[in-house]
Amino acid sequence: MEYLPNIAFAIALIVGIGFFVRNVKKLSRNIKLGKDVDVSDNKPQRWKNMAKIALGQTKMVVRPIAGLLHIIVYVGFIIINIEVLEIILDGLLGTHRIFAPLGSIYNFLIGAFEVLALMVIVAVVVFWIRRNIIRIQRFIKPEMKGWPKKDGNLILYIELVLMALFLTMNAADFQLQQLGAEHYAKAGAFPVSQFIAPLLQGLSESSLIMVERTAWWIHILGILAFLNYLYYSKHLHILLAFPNTYYGKIRPQGQFNNLASVTKEVKLMMDPSADPFAAPTEDDSAEPEKFGASDVTDLNWVQLLNAYTCTECGRCTSECPANQTGKKLSPRKIMMDTRDRLEEVGKIIDANKGEFVPDGKQLLGDYISHEELWACTTCNACVEACPVSIDPLSIIVEMRRYLVMEQSAAPTELNNMMSNIENNGAPWPYNQMDRLNWVNE
Ligand code: SF4
Ligand code: SF4
Repeated sequence: MEYLPNIAFAIALIVGIGFFVRNVKKLSRNIKLGKDVDVSDNKPQRWKNMAKIALGQTKMVVRPIAGLLHIIVYVGFIIINIEVLEIILDGLLGTHRIFAPLGSIYNFLIGAFEVLALMVIVAVVVFWIRRNIIRIQRFIKPEMKGWPKKDGNLILYIELVLMALFLTMNAADFQLQQLGAEHYAKAGAFPVSQFIAPLLQGLSESSLIMVERTAWWIHILGILAFLNYLYYSKHLHILLAFPNTYYGKIRPQGQFNNLASVTKEVKLMMDPSADPFAAPTEDDSAEPEKFGASDVTDLNWVQLLNAYTCTECGRCTSECPANQTGKKLSPRKIMMDTRDRLEEVGKIIDANKGEFVPDGKQLLGDYISHEELWACTTCNACVEACPVSIDPLSIIVEMRRYLVMEQSAAPTELNNMMSNIENNGAPWPYNQMDRLNWVNE
């Protein structure tokens, strides 16, 4: 019986981590459904991007209020959870505040954690007000209805509850230390929870122990549950922001991934000295099986990683000129749709023993409409605005490529323009010989 709590704790830990590993495997399998892409270039630049953007949060502070609040929650959440290490060791070994022998360092750490916990609570409340009372535009766009809205709020509630439990646990501990209770030796500094402690005054020692233990257990079980909730939430970005910023686009913003076979065709068309009978080079012969993308499995794995990393912050959509002028396009929705479809494909694979059985659906048409795709001006504002290096434009371009090259389904204006370029070497419907006629007009 003496070891029952330790055994229960070990089981909770194994189950929590076991489910988390299962989710990570599923995530990795789904991302690998994407096509291969070479991202082994310029490693120093990639590491620098990750340190600056994911760790240093440099793109978050472009919007100072949200950026600062986010940094508080991010730093607070990461640092306070260092305490989780102590909780895990205490839980497994049956000790209480195992790091207490660190003395003044320990006191400083616990004090700092409490101040951070308070700051996180304040930041979370402000975030909640921005979403639900002030109703900032980018949080109430059509794609944010239903689960995305619930998810955003749920995360705030979970963070609030975890921080409150941490402070309650410390307040009860502080009271028990004052009473000189057995196992509750004086350790730690409680600059915040000492003000909660008076609320517990008058409780017997056993009731205080009950409060402290309950808060301790719910706190750690809550963290394990949160770890497993990540997979189903936009909060997955707290893990994926790091690989995503590493593998993010490093070539110049306006540079597209031209297809070698198409480039060759264009060169032949535009360059009178090109030899149309020249033997194909290795590059030319590498013609893709399918041009562009109509479903998630046609995208590359970095684009799929992008989809899982999206925080649904809406910074891209709020900068998008198409969205600002009332068009149907929202780059955030492009990423959310890609992730939803990828999840759907993953579930079909799970249900069919590892095989994908066509379900008659695809990303193009069933999730993302032609209207959305053709509303894009390819301005790159969404890519520039994204705080975690996501590139919605690359997905839009791939799907347009499919429409144009596989389906010949470009809008009439575009088809006319492309025919003109092909026939006249210019987008206008005039013969090349007539180009200078305007001089005589
Ligand atoms: S590239 Fe397209 S989706 Fe991105 S901001 Fe510009 S118009 Fe919007
Ligand atoms: S793509 Fe980037 S900017 Fe847009 S919602 Fe997702 S995380 Fe935010």
